[in-house]
Amino acid sequence: MQSRKIQIGTANVQAAGRHGTETERHGTETECHGTEIERLGTAIAQADAVIIGAGAGLSTAAGFTYTGERFKRYFADFEETYHFHDMYSGGFYPYASLEEYWAYWSRYIYINRYMSAPKPVYDALYELVRDKDYFVLTTNVDHCFQKAGFDKHRLFYTQGDYGLFQCSEPCHTDTYDNEALVKKMVLSQGFEIGADGRLFAPAGKRVQMRVPTELLPVCSHCGRPMTMNLRADDTFVQDAGWEQAAERYDLFERRHRGLRILYMELGVGFNTPGIIKYPFWRMTAENFQSIYACVNLGETFAPTEIRNRSICINADIVKVFEQL
Ligand SMILES: [Zn+2]
Repeated sequence: MQSRKIQIGTANVQAAGRHGTETERHGTETECHGTEIERLGTAIAQADAVIIGAGAGLSTAAGFTYTGERFKRYFADFEETYHFHDMYSGGFYPYASLEEYWAYWSRYIYINRYMSAPKPVYDALYELVRDKDYFVLTTNVDHCFQKAGFDKHRLFYTQGDYGLFQCSEPCHTDTYDNEALVKKMVLSQGFEIGADGRLFAPAGKRVQMRVPTELLPVCSHCGRPMTMNLRADDTFVQDAGWEQAAERYDLFERRHRGLRILYMELGVGFNTPGIIKYPFWRMTAENFQSIYACVNLGETFAPTEIRNRSICINADIVKVFEQL
């Protein structure tokens, strides 16, 4: 298992670096999007299998933004007290107590993991591939694929899941569903949950910035605090579900080798290219039947070796899906 972890985490960075120097910017001109989107539609239709690689940009397109109105609606009190202006920064704040830390994180987990995405981007993607032989590889930890109906046996969440707790040490490799506890924590602060699952603060009521001590998640084995099952450092637990998903992905990839595979990369940036981007480039280069597609608002690249089998669309994923 250790070898797989290395393969996924740091895949072929050296080789990809070599590609990187030969890459060119694609798809920056709006007028060529139409043709490229048509090519993508044809590639989906003709593929024997579609391997989706999804990064943060896909959830941003679905409306999971971490600043602005969405931040202020749920974290105005934290902003006023600690002067950070987005959810990401708030996650790094050194809160003085675990009661306050979990007040912050329970809101964060609830709205980003248990509430529905503001825009049905994942649903649109599901409609595109539901009748295909597909597999999803993602660095996103927000569970959007399952919520949209994707088969959980065709998903590999490499970086964990906000919906799971693990021991912070970790003293063992089990993970625990946190939905019930996260709900208790947000309700304890004075929030309410509507019939549609939306979190809201009742009008005129000031919410608390702490949770009761008895709600703090504690490891039942060693008594240490629990934490989220996210790959932030080497304490990340790869539980049985993670190992099975890794194995299924590996099997899917091997079973389809040499076939017409569409590697469809959505919203993947250059923060952790070793997980999706570089392996997709490498696998496309190795299989002359395959096609690499990259849809991302901001930057899209394809190495020289695979350029004639690449589709690069630098545009809003929502708009691309609408035209497909
Ligand atoms: Zn423990």
